[in-house]
Amino acid sequence: MKLLWLQRLSCCGNTHSLLSSEEANLLFEEFEVLFHPSFSTESEEDVIERVLKGGKLDLLVVEGAVKRDDEVIKNLCGISDYVVAVGNCAVYGNIPALSEDSVFGLQYRFKEKGGILGKDFESKKGYPVINLSGCPANPEWIVGTLLRIKWKGKLDLDELGRPKEYYSSLTHWGCSRNEYFEWKVETEKLGSPKGCLFYHYGCRGPMTHSTCNVHLWNGVNSKTRAGTPCFGCTEYDFPRVNLWETKLYAGIPAELPLGVSKRGYIMISGVAKMFAPERLKDED
Ligand code: SF4
Ligand code: SF4
Repeated sequence: MKLLWLQRLSCCGNTHSLLSSEEANLLFEEFEVLFHPSFSTESEEDVIERVLKGGKLDLLVVEGAVKRDDEVIKNLCGISDYVVAVGNCAVYGNIPALSEDSVFGLQYRFKEKGGILGKDFESKKGYPVINLSGCPANPEWIVGTLLRIKWKGKLDLDELGRPKEYYSSLTHWGCSRNEYFEWKVETEKLGSPKGCLFYHYGCRGPMTHSTCNVHLWNGVNSKTRAGTPCFGCTEYDFPRVNLWETKLYAGIPAELPLGVSKRGYIMISGVAKMFAPERLKDED
């Protein structure tokens, strides 16, 4: 299967993420990589010209936000069986789109569907852009998705074009701090192995779609395990201000865990805090 990986307005973070996967070698073993900016010696223009002349491409991967007038990317998307946007910039426009109106994600601009390809775009195999959001996307999601395309040719996507396998659960699931969350015991300081980071430190785990606490980074860790809040980097509204703080109204988080009502939250969290086991309050 022939794969072309292009970068546009990007910090290269998703390539770095890919390289931290223990399975990164599979990219080169399982695919004929026609071009990747970090590994290829041939000129990008020459490869693109050849691909466009051939009129067919199996798999196009785009890393980075894209200018609206980027006809090269549009033309390549038009001849590709599958198009994958890897990382928040390629998916939503993200940081580059914040300062430039002409910058987009492939099929979204923040939460608005459309992007440079339009909301009805489908690749040759009938898929919308396959979106691997994240800043950067977890390496296991990148490798896993590319291999699934090659081996199965079938993907189950959510309403934002993201593989359900990686985006149908919340970062909160599998977090080692869940017991602290339930009893409303907040961590005393960043980096502490104990306590939850939701109540004061801005953790977005209960409203962010990712498997960061299931598919651990480098196989060993995640932000919340390291004592840092989840910043919600897989969602369209990342980055946001005050990443390290929980915005509160009258002592209640402005944004509650997905699906939890304000009334339910007030009732349950008040009781939970009152009856929290002593062993959870001990920081040592
Ligand atoms: S630290 Fe974040 S992800 Fe972990 S339990 Fe608390 S709110 Fe959930
Ligand atoms: S834990 Fe949250 S902020 Fe961190 S990488 Fe996962 S989704 Fe992004």
